Amino acid sequence: MPRPITLADAIRHHWGCPICWFVEKRLNDFIASSLQRWMTDERERFVATQGLCPAHADLLLRWASPMGIAVLYPPLLQLAADFVALWSTLGRMPNTKPSPMKPRCPVCAERAAAEKLALRELLDLLRTEEGRQIYAESRGVCLPHFRRLWTKATGELRSWLLQTQQDQLRRLSDDLQSYRQKRETLRRHAITPAEETAWATAVEKLAGRWKALAPTESEVSCDG
Ligand SMILES: [Zn+2]
Ligand SMILES: [Zn+2]
Repeated sequence: MPRPITLADAIRHHWGCPICWFVEKRLNDFIASSLQRWMTDERERFVATQGLCPAHADLLLRWASPMGIAVLYPPLLQLAADFVALWSTLGRMPNTKPSPMKPRCPVCAERAAAEKLALRELLDLLRTEEGRQIYAESRGVCLPHFRRLWTKATGELRSWLLQTQQDQLRRLSDDLQSYRQKRETLRRHAITPAEETAWATAVEKLAGRWKALAPTESEVSCDG
């Protein structure tokens, strides 16, 4: 089995937020390795969650085969039918939890655990001089993860993080502008690797990667 990726791998090998990248990789591994168990040994436990939140249902579609869905979903649909029957009796939507409208999404639980681990690994890294240097030279984390990182940091690390985040944002803006100028003046050969990836990093730096962040409020939300 391949070694699970670490946060240090994510900082070294990814042009975007290392926490987003780490979490997304972990979730993909989690779904790929859980599918078989959800269909066999852990079937009852999976059914008891009442399904996946919208973001992770989308992720499931990427990994499960049509036959896998055909094994996993009949009991969930039965539960949803019971839920609607109760809705009919009550004359309003039942507020039971978990329910098809508020599933206890197992991928959300994994997402929270992976994010916690990534934040802890990053904070450990930032306790060393060398770690700070590696981080400062990287693109750094996205704004949503920056907020969580800053909240968990203490003492002078907080002000170091704020300064580093500003430097990273300004450097990214410079790279992006320089990328545009070089494209416009047909100096494409002079574009550096940092400038080449700046457009994709820019979008992710502000918003984070949707697949790695907690699902936002929607009609169907996770019971947590
Ligand atoms: Zn992020
Ligand atoms: Zn979820």
